[in-house]
Amino acid sequence: MNKPQGASMYESAKKIYPREIGGRFANLSRLATIVLLGLFYGIPWFNWGERQAVLFDLPARKFHLIGLTLWPQDFPYLALLLIIAALSLFFFTALAGRLWCGFACPQTVWTEIFIWMEQLTEGKRSQRIKLDTAPWSWNKLRRKGSKQFLWITFSIWTGFTFVGYFTPVRDLGAEFLALNVGGWTLFWGFFYGFATYGNAGYMREQVCKYMCPYARFQSAMFDEDTLIISYDESRGEPRGGRKRSVDAKAAGLGDCIDCQLCVQVCPTGIDIREGLQYECIACAACIDACDSIMDKMEYPRGLVRYTTEHAIHRESTHVLRPRMFVYATLLILLCAGLVTSMATRTPIILDVIRDRNSLYRELPNDMIENIYTIKVINQSDQARSFVLGVDGVEGLSLDGVGTDDTVHVDGGSVLSLPVRVRAHRDDAYGIMTIQFSVTAIDDESVSIHEDSRFLGPMP
Ligand code: SF4
Ligand code: SF4
Repeated sequence: MNKPQGASMYESAKKIYPREIGGRFANLSRLATIVLLGLFYGIPWFNWGERQAVLFDLPARKFHLIGLTLWPQDFPYLALLLIIAALSLFFFTALAGRLWCGFACPQTVWTEIFIWMEQLTEGKRSQRIKLDTAPWSWNKLRRKGSKQFLWITFSIWTGFTFVGYFTPVRDLGAEFLALNVGGWTLFWGFFYGFATYGNAGYMREQVCKYMCPYARFQSAMFDEDTLIISYDESRGEPRGGRKRSVDAKAAGLGDCIDCQLCVQVCPTGIDIREGLQYECIACAACIDACDSIMDKMEYPRGLVRYTTEHAIHRESTHVLRPRMFVYATLLILLCAGLVTSMATRTPIILDVIRDRNSLYRELPNDMIENIYTIKVINQSDQARSFVLGVDGVEGLSLDGVGTDDTVHVDGGSVLSLPVRVRAHRDDAYGIMTIQFSVTAIDDESVSIHEDSRFLGPMP
């Protein structure tokens, strides 16, 4: 395509001023925002015993989730959890469309709060439009300045809370107040705070339209039975303005009075009457808007509503369809697998590293000795005593452990111990497999084994 000389292929985004609207879905959205942000800002302040209930302690390579401590060795649980999260997204998208986008996505939730602060300082939609086009004055400076103050304070608090998931939040608070925050802590706090400020304050719908990968591929999970927000064209058209007293049917009009309210409340600036569009985040603001107009006109509600493609075309909708069964079965199996493996998880890890510098040592009395380093990781929060054992060759003995082969490991700690294993020359020849074991003294069911090799002279 030839570009006319001097014409730009780039069209800058027009600022959207979403109009405030009340209603069933607006209340639901507010509730979701309060609950989700309440959880985000509140969780780091809860303690579980002596420590923060939820703490991703990266330097110590430990994730504390209430009573559970996950170690790098528990990575399969995390992978399973992510697969479950992805499958849940597929399941709920196929069932109810973009519920996540409209009510739970961080971008939506934070944008909601930022728009609320904007309304608080700059006023309603018409006042905001007027203020933006007005020349700078004391009133404009005061309103814009108040908005920036609220946005920046909230963003700093958000960055601080984010870092509080990785550093004990009370210590962080003390460092913050003493203006003694470390370099990396400061960097991540500002980075997250700045991302919140930029995404929720300025980029808003641009993130959903151009940056979010989910917006691009979610349509692949849609079918004619997926719940979507749609305009009922057969009922609304032909659209047109009229007085409430006018009989729409007699005037040859549909129920849409072409008031544009559904467009004005849309946070992504689209017209739902043009059909299903990928920019629609299913926030349901247009449903509340149109319902309020239908009430005023004394028409039945639901010209814009949650529906399905089949229902819009007067065909029957099937909630239970094959793909739902596949997603649900996989979800149930994975959740059951995760719960079972977590419930039966042994809270100790045993690592045995054989000394590679020597094959074996010959001792007086015809004894053969091999050297190992044993690592016992106590994954529980309580200190525990364990009995170390070794088996697999006749007359094996363990040396270097201490009284009664017992070791003591603090909660959430690693004990590294060099040990010597001995066997009589008559029983130790060639390469043999031996088993080390660690068993908790207070609970014999807490036990773990690890195989290693024992080397002796070749027969
Ligand atoms: S079209 Fe309706 S549901 Fe979709 S984003 Fe706009 S207001 Fe929200
Ligand atoms: S709010 Fe309802 S009546 Fe008004 S333009 Fe939108 S669809 Fe038509």
